[in-house]
Amino acid sequence: MDYQTVVGLEIHAELLTNSKIFCSCSTTFGREANTQVCPVCMGMPGSLPTLNKKAVELAVKAGLALNCTISDNLSFDRKNYFYPDLPKAYQISQFNNPLCKDGYIKIDYNGKPKKIGIADIHIEEDAGKLVHAENGQTLIDYNRCGVGLIEIVTKPDINFAEEAKLVFEEIKDILECLKISDCKMQEGSLRCDVNVSVMPLGTQTLGERTEIKNLNSFGAVARAIKNESQRQIEVIKSGQKVIRQTRKWDDLTGKNTLLRNKENSDDYRFFPEPDLPTIKIGKSFIDNIKESIIELPRDKKVRFMKDYLLSEFDAHLISRDLNVSNWFEKAVSYGADVKRISSFIVTDIRRLMKEKKLEKIPFEPEKLVKLVSMINDGVISLTASKQIIEIMFESTDAPEIIAKKNNLIQVSDENELDLIAQVVLNENKEAVDDYKKGKEKAILYLTGQVMKKTRGSANPIVINKLLREKLSN
Ligand code: ADP
Ligand code: ZN
Ligand code: MG
Repeated sequence: MDYQTVVGLEIHAELLTNSKIFCSCSTTFGREANTQVCPVCMGMPGSLPTLNKKAVELAVKAGLALNCTISDNLSFDRKNYFYPDLPKAYQISQFNNPLCKDGYIKIDYNGKPKKIGIADIHIEEDAGKLVHAENGQTLIDYNRCGVGLIEIVTKPDINFAEEAKLVFEEIKDILECLKISDCKMQEGSLRCDVNVSVMPLGTQTLGERTEIKNLNSFGAVARAIKNESQRQIEVIKSGQKVIRQTRKWDDLTGKNTLLRNKENSDDYRFFPEPDLPTIKIGKSFIDNIKESIIELPRDKKVRFMKDYLLSEFDAHLISRDLNVSNWFEKAVSYGADVKRISSFIVTDIRRLMKEKKLEKIPFEPEKLVKLVSMINDGVISLTASKQIIEIMFESTDAPEIIAKKNNLIQVSDENELDLIAQVVLNENKEAVDDYKKGKEKAILYLTGQVMKKTRGSANPIVINKLLREKLSN
């Protein structure tokens, strides 16, 4: 029997606010442990939370971008549990009335559009961080305690590991482009839990699911889902039942292990947070946020494919990064060769940005436009242009200056090349005879010889034309 995988994601994103959600402590990452704490985020008796308005704005923004209905009232609940990274022994979260509900996100999986439901988006506070020291001790850093989070919960509408990865990527791109979260997975600003079940192909009733916690890369999400659905299929085939569990993925071994049997909501003794009043959310508050929502990455992708005739692959890579897509559109606005511009961005430029860990392209789009026109005019070769781009990442020189300084200008002057071509013909009688006997390939060899003599600086198109003229005389 074949099985269908079913996946729902729970994505945690830290909100991009300067201060924590219920106190004024800084949210800056990477500071000395326990220097960004106060009685409120440490849960001292008698301290009271004050809600950060910016955090609510960002959460509403996420809800609108993901097509959710925004609740009229904002209320919080206490989720009670004891863990060393949670000094209050409860987390302020939303349980009864999540801020955003019933949305969806559109993705293109295998070239086909598909809607994935968003069950809800709720606001909560982050916990601290356990630091496992080498000597076996565990230390606690409370700097992260009380940083505002949203949890985005998808419906179980996802059926493939790669599809889940795409949903996660798409949501990240949206949160990043709207500056809702910085989405730095390596700093823990964005984490994903995956819920996985399997059911016989063609059936409708969902199987029992497990949850794998805290995945922090796109690849890990896909690998963990593949591995877990395989494990469940084996469990079922051996005549056993899948048990509702929370599991842990180890990306190094490629295996997941039991963390604990799944707690249910009763275990958390949720009750309305008594220290925060219910707040009415007005229409004008929401309307103002609506106005600040710029074109989303997928819409931009579709527009790029239509307006600039980009492939889906190129359009996706360019549109998902706001800095890069703005830069691209500026370059194109100068009437540049779109195909060349986009292909430079998706290949060399993205590679160099990654290598150099840059968030922005370090030179003006005008420079790439100039470089492309130099290629199209035969002033430089495509190979030389790639060297020039590398140098443009380091130097403020204009591309034509870089080309001159590095002897990358192609010789296209026929008079200059004529003499060299003649010498090459004289020196390669055999190839000349071959060509005259109809061996078309001989011309490539001869062109190569001219290139060699000019140390690669000649324009191969001009040489080819010159050689053909000479040989036909
Ligand atoms: P809980 O309240 O136990 O956390 P939820 O209903 O909030 O459960 O669902 C949590 C996540 O699990 C959601 O992303 C949802 O889509 C997903 N999910 C629910 N049922 C299944 C299932 N049978 N298989 C896979 N995922 C599921
Ligand atoms: Zn604080
Ligand atoms: Mg849940």
